[in-house]
Amino acid sequence: MKFVSTRDKKTWVSGQQAIVQGISEEGGLFVPECFPRLKPLGELLNLSYQELAYEILALYFEDLGETSLQMAVDAAYDEKFPNEVVPMHSIGNSTFLELFHGRTLAFKDMALSILPHLMKASAEGLGEEREIIVLVATSGDTGKAALEGFSGAKGIEVSVFYPDGGVSEMQRLQMVTTQGENTYVCGIRGNFDDAQTGVKKIFADPSFTQEVMQKGYILSSANSINIGRLIPQIVYYVYGYLQLLKEEKIKGGEKIHVCVPTGNFGNVLAAYYAKEMGLPLDRLIVASNDNRVLTDFFSEGIYDGDRPLYLTSSPSMDILISSNLERFIYHSSNEDAQAVMDAMDSLKQNRRFDWQSQIKDPSIYAYMADEEAVSKSIRELYLEHGYVMDPHTAVANSAVQQYRSETGDSAQILIASTASPFKFAGKVLKSIGHEVPQDEFKAVEDLAQLMEIPVPTAVQELLELEERHRDLCQPEEMEEMLCKKYLRGTND
Ligand SMILES: *Cc1c(COP(=O)(O)O)cnc(C)c1O
Repeated sequence: MKFVSTRDKKTWVSGQQAIVQGISEEGGLFVPECFPRLKPLGELLNLSYQELAYEILALYFEDLGETSLQMAVDAAYDEKFPNEVVPMHSIGNSTFLELFHGRTLAFKDMALSILPHLMKASAEGLGEEREIIVLVATSGDTGKAALEGFSGAKGIEVSVFYPDGGVSEMQRLQMVTTQGENTYVCGIRGNFDDAQTGVKKIFADPSFTQEVMQKGYILSSANSINIGRLIPQIVYYVYGYLQLLKEEKIKGGEKIHVCVPTGNFGNVLAAYYAKEMGLPLDRLIVASNDNRVLTDFFSEGIYDGDRPLYLTSSPSMDILISSNLERFIYHSSNEDAQAVMDAMDSLKQNRRFDWQSQIKDPSIYAYMADEEAVSKSIRELYLEHGYVMDPHTAVANSAVQQYRSETGDSAQILIASTASPFKFAGKVLKSIGHEVPQDEFKAVEDLAQLMEIPVPTAVQELLELEERHRDLCQPEEMEEMLCKKYLRGTND
């Protein structure tokens, strides 16, 4: 399996190289040259999550070798996760795929538990002896999941930039209390798009990358621009479908829809990949919050990121420049790399591009949910079914309601449930009509009482940890911060 660049089909690399490099040199993203077919589902039906993960990863990363791949899977999906790695909860014909039972309580753990192992094995496979600096821009959840995944990894340093004031208090605390010698966390006075643009600029700055290399480092990424993030996310859609089959909620071959709350379009793209591999998925319902740039794109064919960014109660989706859309437009335009290149140039220069003339994918449905819809969705589901969702998942649930009332379609829908409600206790309590205590930890306790479950240890332990990372900078200073950290060793 080769991985080609979305902006130049002649540029291709091996799986190992794609993972270590993160992004193609001319700025394109690596995509598989073709979609491998899944085995007949009957043969996959009784596999554990780990066995299924191995099956799917092996289709893409054969060059890693069986042993390395097996070790990566075993190390990733171990007792960090509950017995059932991805529990499911059905309400009528909607099924929540709970992707948040990893260490940092968000779905980013699903891929970031395994990426460090894939990266280490890839670097070894390539005979790479330099240390890898993994750069991460985060809208809230990727940061901690990367810090957790890479913490203590030999030969890898991880640096995270988050928007100061743009993440929830729980998300901030999770990041700044991170221990581990190889971790660095810095807030920026800007939003997520500034952080993401800053990271991309650093990758594209030859004088910096050369200096880094002279010091014996190479740069890589743990954002979903890295194909090593995306492929492991295919697994849970296949797993979810198989569970529905096993529980006889659907019949063999029956098509279902998937709804994903989206920001950078990575998670929903993984569902698209699963579909291209032969999983019987019909429609993909793309759910956005007030930052409805993708909703507008799918209805009008024009991508317009030139608008104000709203800070919402689903901060991990407060994004205007959606990186993985690039992969989607590449695949859905019959791999027209030139058109992708032109679109991305236009996006960089004018923050918009016109995609109207390209074929529309009729299986994509896109909706948005504003703050009121999110609250209503959380409240109603709790009052009617006793089930508590986080605000990101509520965006998706609201989209499903809109889809059902618009189409009258009652088919089975798998909803990606992306975060634990405990990460956003204040908003959840408020939506339900509960009094919201000032103190975030008190809010967490109140929520635990309401849900009649204990406070997750990952939240509990934050109370005792010291805030170790205090650096803040302007977006233009990100490179400077890294210079100080890795090239001149003057900050800690
Ligand atoms: C990252 C994140 C999303 C958005 O996922 P994308 O892959 O960026 O579309 C949604 N919900 C939560 C909780 C997240 O952390």
